[in-house]
Amino acid sequence: MTLSKPPWDYAPAPESMKVDIAPEHGLFIDGAFRVARSGRMFATINPATEEPLSEVAEADAADVNDAVVAARKALKGWRKLPALERAKYLYRIARRIQERARELAVLETMDNGKPIRETRDEDVPLAAAHFFHHAGWCDKLRYALPTSTGADPQPIGVCAQVIPWNFPLLMAAWKIAPALACGNTVVLKPAETTPLTALRLAEILQEVDLPRGVVNIVTGAGATGRDLVQHADVDKVAFTGSTDVGRAIATAVAGTSKRLTLELGGKSPNIIFADAPIDQAVEGIVSAIWVNQGQVCCAGSRLLVEECIVDEVIDKLRHRMQSLRVGNPLDKNTDVGAINSRAQLERIEGFIRAGVSEGASHHEVSGATLPSRGFWCRPCFFTGVQPSHTIAREEIFGPVLAVMTFRTPEEAVVRANNTMYGLSAGIWTSSGSKAYEIARQIKAGVIWCNTFNQFDAAAPFGGYRESGFGREGGRAGLAAYLA
Ligand code: NAP
Ligand code: MG
Repeated sequence: MTLSKPPWDYAPAPESMKVDIAPEHGLFIDGAFRVARSGRMFATINPATEEPLSEVAEADAADVNDAVVAARKALKGWRKLPALERAKYLYRIARRIQERARELAVLETMDNGKPIRETRDEDVPLAAAHFFHHAGWCDKLRYALPTSTGADPQPIGVCAQVIPWNFPLLMAAWKIAPALACGNTVVLKPAETTPLTALRLAEILQEVDLPRGVVNIVTGAGATGRDLVQHADVDKVAFTGSTDVGRAIATAVAGTSKRLTLELGGKSPNIIFADAPIDQAVEGIVSAIWVNQGQVCCAGSRLLVEECIVDEVIDKLRHRMQSLRVGNPLDKNTDVGAINSRAQLERIEGFIRAGVSEGASHHEVSGATLPSRGFWCRPCFFTGVQPSHTIAREEIFGPVLAVMTFRTPEEAVVRANNTMYGLSAGIWTSSGSKAYEIARQIKAGVIWCNTFNQFDAAAPFGGYRESGFGREGGRAGLAAYLA
């Protein structure tokens, strides 16, 4: 297949950048914004331009303590509130997210670097959906998880929640909505590079008159997260992030009475059988690895193709990759935006160099002119990958796909499970029985068939093995927030 570019190009379709961003953001503690006790601030930037967006307060141990004290104080009133009243707050938050959707999407794109098409159509609607879904559970907890006495199950208490930068608002919603629905109070620590939408959510919490202290947001870097999860008066720790930090948190929490859930990294297989609808499968490969610049914990980063169709799949994939538009995340035509930080870009580039030096063949989007400032990585895939290669084993968290082949369904299963992770998997086949048979044997928390990266607030999400434990979303997700 030849790789000719069409003789025309799209006209730019930029979304307006008109969104108010205060030059400084405080901590959200006990229902109000305030400066950090230390007075320290850090900058958050737009990774597509490297321009600073705002200065944000850096919480130290004393600030974290204030937030935990506020959450403890608020717990008594919040857990006693009739469930239907709790539900009304969650509904109001969901409605307000919808009403402020454009503002949240633009802000997220500017702070994170991901395309506006994704923040507008995925991140923000899914965040609202999560609050809507959990509003419905508030008065039905006894049916979701019946207790031996028939009484309502009880909340755990004060929840420390630490989230990463890849889906900042969505991860805040995934954490806060079930915690509140179950009657817990929260102290949330957003990632250092993407604090702005969580703080905008705090404004929404003020607008809907959520009782003071029910949700507190402490911004800062890893040290703030460490202070939070190690605080003695926290009852539960919920963490989403890297496996290394997850391990450190598990060690810190071991031997205490704190409950723990961990949503960690992945290296998920996307398996294409010869009887799959190939064109749809190629679209599925694209959305599995190049959505959000591949900075997705459940990304289908290991492509396993049945050997007899590998040439066809690679030709079509190369052609499709060539059509991806890389650049200004605020342009509505952009498919692939900026990498979230210079550090993350350097990490990804290191993996690409390792792939080349270990002998795999590198294929990337060519031709596109990338902006002169910002953090950019061309979507790419590697062929000739061996299971022992670094790019086949380690989570890259970038737009880099490792392609491998298999000959039999048994070999596909062995290759798919040949990882320390177990977050997600994709299976592409026209045979329903084959799909079930393969899915049954794959060790992953989420398995998609003839699709990839589909999320729903009602569907539990979470991992096995080094991808963590505990589920978020749906009925299973409630269990993590009830005593
Ligand atoms: P990370 O470095 O582990 O950071 C995650 C969060 O933890 C951030 O808020 C971070 O703060 C904070 N943190 C860092 N060190 C800490 C410590 N010692 N104690 C407590 N908190 C600490 O991960 P990341 O690079 O931001 O995110 C990428 C990783 O997250 C990938 O491995 C990805 O697979 C995983 N992830 C998993 C899921 C899932 O649901 N399974 C979802 C999304 C992402 P700073 O950012 O301010 O340093
Ligand atoms: Mg930023």
